[in-house]
Amino acid sequence: MADFFGGKMTEEKITPKDYLSGLKPIWCPGCGDFAVLNAVAKAMATMELKKENVAVVSGIGCSSRLPGYLSTYGFNSIHGRALPIAAGLKLSRPDLTVLAVGGDGDIFSIGGNHLPHIARRNIDVKCIVMDNGIYGLTKGQVSPTTPLGEKTVTTTYGSIEDPIQPLKLLLSYEASFVAQSTSLDLNHMVSTIVAAMKHKGFAFVNVRSPCVTYRGKEQYDVIRQRSKYIDKEPDYDPADMRKAWHHAITPEYISLGILYQKPRDTYDERQLRLREAAKAGREWTLEDVMKGFIK
Ligand code: SF4
Repeated sequence: MADFFGGKMTEEKITPKDYLSGLKPIWCPGCGDFAVLNAVAKAMATMELKKENVAVVSGIGCSSRLPGYLSTYGFNSIHGRALPIAAGLKLSRPDLTVLAVGGDGDIFSIGGNHLPHIARRNIDVKCIVMDNGIYGLTKGQVSPTTPLGEKTVTTTYGSIEDPIQPLKLLLSYEASFVAQSTSLDLNHMVSTIVAAMKHKGFAFVNVRSPCVTYRGKEQYDVIRQRSKYIDKEPDYDPADMRKAWHHAITPEYISLGILYQKPRDTYDERQLRLREAAKAGREWTLEDVMKGFIK
């Protein structure tokens, strides 16, 4: 039931549609990012998050348009800077659920220097990468995850670079939650994002999200043929770092699921404790602080 202004009366259950802004996405038909948008909206509805308590930060790229298609707070920022902006927001507003979203070029290349620090500090931000192995927005240049030998507009004889392996990278950075999903399986993506949002601390979800325009339909075929759900393994244990490494580096299949999850203290919590300890026993005034600088 709608109230006088078209808003919802309190007793109605929130639905994924309520998290969409109504702006029509301008992604190419068939782009994997449509599924990610739907999965994020469904995950928020599953968690029954209040829109005003969620902020989604992005950088630049096709996938970085995502915050504009949501009705939560959003910030389409500058190239490669989604993570530090999301971190700053979370530390100043710990009550918010903060997501950082973007593509492989934005997060692993231009913004790659931010990943190890947010991961080791374990700041409570959820990072979702739409990994298609190409710079789509700028018309198909080689990206950090483009496979060796792949032809792009800047590697017309095939790429001679070894690609970054995101899962391996995040495990070595000691991220407390590392997972992979794909646009080809919406339900799996929703449950993975829900798990990431429930996790206390930094959570990284790499989504294999095909770019049909510059990488063709074969990206869909590769994911379909080579994917394996690791949580269906009889000895599955996401707290086992050794097994996580195996799933991250194996050339035999594309691992889908939560590879590693081990909660630990977050930077957010430590910062709060530090503030409390600094305040304890003493009332600080501006004059006290200034005395430390002015002799
Ligand atoms: Fe998606 Fe590729 Fe089109 Fe960009 S260029 S919207 S990544 S299909």
